[in-house]
Amino acid sequence: MVDKNPAESIRRRGLMLVLSSPSGAGKSTIARNLLESDKEFELSVSVTTRPRRASEIDGVHYHFRGRREFEYLRDNDELLEWAEVHGNFYATPREPAERAISEGRDMLFDIDWQGAEQLRERMRGDIVSIFILPPSMRELKDRLRRRAEDQESVIAARLSNAREEIEHWREYDYIVINSDLDAAFSSVKAIVAAERLRRDRRPGLFEFVSGLLDEKL
Ligand code: 5GP
Repeated sequence: MVDKNPAESIRRRGLMLVLSSPSGAGKSTIARNLLESDKEFELSVSVTTRPRRASEIDGVHYHFRGRREFEYLRDNDELLEWAEVHGNFYATPREPAERAISEGRDMLFDIDWQGAEQLRERMRGDIVSIFILPPSMRELKDRLRRRAEDQESVIAARLSNAREEIEHWREYDYIVINSDLDAAFSSVKAIVAAERLRRDRRPGLFEFVSGLLDEKL
């Protein structure tokens, strides 16, 4: 039997991977693919006051909560970040994210630019952020139409918000243009692979290198 690569068992801090994009740019599909193919990742399940869509499950896609409960969580420092998006409130629960990162588990955050900004301020070196752009605004509009889970008025509002979201592209570490889903997903995997190898994320390297240097030949 071949020994496991020692580099893979070196202790490291978890990665906080933030994925943002305007609605319809393919972020949810990329997020889903990543969670399915990479078992080291878990999804940060956000709290929201938005009504549940037919395809969504409470506790899996979001924790659906009333406005008062949301305000209670916010006022009791239970939220790592929060924002109003399309007239509803969204937030990242603090405790599960902090625990995952300190235990060396990676977490995926499907949040908007406002949330990304707050996480960068609070979690600094743990955050890696990727912004996904559509190949064109026309394509974005078509994708929103095809999705058809939302009413036409909701689609119009999302399209006008897309411009505002896109204006924040410069704040992200990486930009992926999703003209081809497979290619975009490969780019995201490459970013993750490289970020996991960063020296400053791997405190266990000190032990590993000391061991290397002490090794009797
Ligand atoms: P949707 O209603 O389509 O599920 O999400 C609308 C937007 O809210 C998306 O851009 C999504 O990334 C963002 N969002 C979802 N959860 C959070 C969160 O916890 N915090 C922030 N800031 N944005 C979120």
